[in-house]
Parts: sequence; structure tokens; C-alpha cells
Amino acid sequence: MRTWEEAAKFHGHKCPGLAIGYRAAVLAMEYLGLDEGAEDEELVCISENDACGVDGIQIVTGCTVGKGNLIFHMTGKMAYSFYCRKSGKSIRLVLKPMQGKMDREQRIQQLLTASGKELFLYKQTTLPFPEPAKIFGNVVCAKCQETIPEPLARLENGQILCLDCCNSYRGF
Ligand SMILES: [Zn+2]
Ligand SMILES: [Zn+2]
Repeated sequence: MRTWEEAAKFHGHKCPGLAIGYRAAVLAMEYLGLDEGAEDEELVCISENDACGVDGIQIVTGCTVGKGNLIFHMTGKMAYSFYCRKSGKSIRLVLKPMQGKMDREQRIQQLLTASGKELFLYKQTTLPFPEPAKIFGNVVCAKCQETIPEPLARLENGQILCLDCCNSYRGF
């Protein structure tokens, strides 16, 4: 298992956010009975925020955005779901509200040393088990000529367009 120091090195600094993700990942691996980084897509994590903690999850679990086994479901909550494909087991860890006043350093120490149940609610996962990474066909945008995967293409006045070239595109 990667250490806290390794996580801090990867992330670039030590902060409570990183500690949250780091502990969530360590606790989830223990709960799921895994002790090494994820082999390919055996372990999948759905993070409900894109804050510092995600770096802790990447370094501990080996789940990455590029491999498709680190997925975002942006509720903004400090909640992380972990799924083990092999065993079918899963867990959703939701950070409990902070009790009492603490400075940054104390908070980090608390996050690193408190028991899992003190820090997180252990809940059943509610999001469906993620599908293995899919490979889609590509199309070329009629305006900028850049290649895009089919599910992200838009049809406007009979032309295939990318999200940036499509006028009716609003937000993500
Ligand atoms: Zn940070
Ligand atoms: Zn375009």
C-alpha cells in the first residue's frame, strides 16, 4: 500500500482534502479485501467531487481517469464509491461533518489516524456498477475538422459538429 508521504509527493502538498481521499481509498481497499493497486479495471472508483482527495485515490488504488476506472459523478459531496469487479462487492464512503475546531495540521492528523467509522459513513452504493470502458466510433466535425467520439457529436442543421462548434451547445 502506498504511504501518506508518497501520496503527498504525488499531489504536491499535504492538505486535509488529500487526506480525505487517501484514507477513503485505504479503508475501501481494506473493506473490499484488496491490498494492491487495481489490476487493469478490477477496481472502479466513482468520486462525487474533483477536489484534492482524488489524487489520494489514484495513488492508493491505481484507478485513473485514463484507464476509465476513476469516474466522476459530480454531486460535490465528499463521497466515494468503490466497486470490485471480481468479488462484486462495493462500498460508498461519505465523509462525516467535522466535529470541533481544528487547525489545518490537526485536521490532517485526525484524518490520518481516526478510525474509518469515525470519519466516514459506510453506505451501500446507489450508482449502478460501471460498465467496462467502451470504445466508440469516431466522426469528424464538419466545421473544425477535428475528430470526436460519436456520443459527443451534435447534429445541427444536418451537419455533424463537435461541442465547441455547435451553437446550441450550453455548458457541459
Ligand atoms: Zn491539496
Ligand atoms: Zn468542431
